[in-house]
Amino acid sequence: MSTGFAGRVALVTGANRGIGYEVCRQLADQGVVVYLGARDAAKGEAAAAELTAGGGDVRFCAIDVASDPSVAAAARWMDAEAGRLDILVNNAGINFDVQVRTSEADLNTIKETLETNLFGAWRTTMAFLPLLRRSEHPRIVNVSSEVGGFGDTPGSPFGLTKMGGVLPAYAISKTALNALTVKLALDLKESGVLVNAVCPGFTATAPGTAEMGARPVREGAEGIVRAALLSDDGPTGGFFRDGQPLPW
Ligand code: NAP
Repeated sequence: MSTGFAGRVALVTGANRGIGYEVCRQLADQGVVVYLGARDAAKGEAAAAELTAGGGDVRFCAIDVASDPSVAAAARWMDAEAGRLDILVNNAGINFDVQVRTSEADLNTIKETLETNLFGAWRTTMAFLPLLRRSEHPRIVNVSSEVGGFGDTPGSPFGLTKMGGVLPAYAISKTALNALTVKLALDLKESGVLVNAVCPGFTATAPGTAEMGARPVREGAEGIVRAALLSDDGPTGGFFRDGQPLPW
């Protein structure tokens, strides 16, 4: 399909399944050349092949966001392959630890979670920044969650103060990811890189969640794609769901 976004180059991390996979599909539908990031080559190649069979230009990129060497190698590979990056979607995320009490958390698990959900996004951003700086429309989208927010969205059951004392690793990793979004956006403002955090909302990527009221994956992905395709006068340093601001 030929759109105003045709030929833009995107990398989506953690995209062999779930929301990341759907973000790849929707970006490809807009004519974006999509690099589908995955830490498992067989799964990543299969997912990229599926989306390519559906008509998109989707290519596998090996990247484990928790690993310095893997991320560095992915950035070198992308430099040789595409020479620039227009859109980075930091989507990879782990450990919805809703059964864990904060006072009883295993700190090694907390650290592992931060290694992916916070440092993964941070190291990937730093590694790919030289390529993003070569773009005319650079965008970074950090896939976050309302569960890490101090804010109080009326009617929402999600947020730091709303779910009791559980979910320590995941919620705190997203609070920190939001803070990273603010600092990065300020740091990169002069260079035109728009950096935003997006919450997809409770989205049906895990078995049984649709029955619990989670929204379809297509809907969850749409707000992320919207932030990836912002016009040059779009917001930076914000937190959004479905294009609407969310309280931090
Ligand atoms: P998911 O179905 O569990 O998929 C997570 C993806 O991340 C998988 O492809 C996984 O790869 C990948 N991943 C994990 N660690 C990685 C690493 N170190 N390097 C590269 N890839 C890695 O999750 P999802 O529901 O689609 O969620 C996607 C994002 O949305 C996450 O950041 C999540 O926190 C956020 N979010 C989700 C919801 C929701 O309700 N689903 C709500 C708010 C926010 P493997 O297949 O190899 O494990």
